[in-house]
Amino acid sequence: MSARILSGKEVALAVRADIADRVSALGSRGKSVGLATVMVGDDPASAVYVRNKHRAAEAAGMLSFDHHLPPTASQDEVEELIRHLNADEAVDGMIVQLPLPPGLDGNRAVETLAPSKDADGLHPYNLGMLLLDRPGPLPATPRGVMRILEHYEIPTSGKLAVVVGRSFLVGRPLALLLGAKGADATVVQAHSRTPELATLTKMADILVVAIGRPRFLGADHIKPGATVVDVGVNRTSEGLVGDCAYDEVAEVAGAITPVPGGVGPMTIASLLANTVAAAERTAGAG
Ligand code: NAP
Repeated sequence: MSARILSGKEVALAVRADIADRVSALGSRGKSVGLATVMVGDDPASAVYVRNKHRAAEAAGMLSFDHHLPPTASQDEVEELIRHLNADEAVDGMIVQLPLPPGLDGNRAVETLAPSKDADGLHPYNLGMLLLDRPGPLPATPRGVMRILEHYEIPTSGKLAVVVGRSFLVGRPLALLLGAKGADATVVQAHSRTPELATLTKMADILVVAIGRPRFLGADHIKPGATVVDVGVNRTSEGLVGDCAYDEVAEVAGAITPVPGGVGPMTIASLLANTVAAAERTAGAG
């Protein structure tokens, strides 16, 4: 069997076209849409991520505000900048590019964000809203995964979903979304202490892997015909690879997201979606 490819790249194009339409509709009502990024230090990978976010925001017709602090910035300086942006009416969505340099507390920085401007959907208030099944900005990567499943009409209701990884960024919120009313999957969350991982993953109708271990899961982890969503992004000497051994997993799976071109492009699309939704709430309230 050769798996159907779930192209996040294509879904992201459709999502971003819809966002551009919504930005333009807001513009015709006199409301601009702005995304601000806060980056501290000079981590090259973070700089690439930030640049891509600005490009995507501008391509959707948004204003983008790039705030870059030196690696010597103090926690107070970072939080002061975030508070300043919280109060700036031109900023509808904001992200703090993580990780922050050693000595700075990324969690505290995220907690300083106004929850209504939290484009990554990672503020504890918004994670709480997710737990309560109430509307709000959703964590960007899990939101992107759900959008891919929706786009390709992969049924989740009544299916067994196994999510490998339990980070607050990906695994945990994704398990909540898959198990929420409406999605209705039965969800099992696995992690590094899960014994007999392959026995478990082989039962999954939908298998999501977010562990950060290059090509860790092979064909022997996969139920024939399963949908495999590979969130992993690992830099190797052969370039970017996922957490699954793509070629052999694709022989067994029914559908699979590639790396690159799978979940990655959806993360950026999702943070733009959170930002335009915030602007629409502001415009509606105004
Ligand atoms: P993380 O915070 O390091 O969490 C990794 C999780 O994987 C942990 O829960 C860990 O278990 C689990 N794990 C590690 N080794 C395992 C093993 N051998 N078997 C089972 N579980 C194992 O990572 P993250 O932030 O969630 O990111 C995961 C991957 O997704 C990374 O490659 C990252 O680059 C990628 N990512 C991609 C995007 C995107 O846009 N495509 C966005 C975010 C992240 P314990 O909790 O027991 O330690």
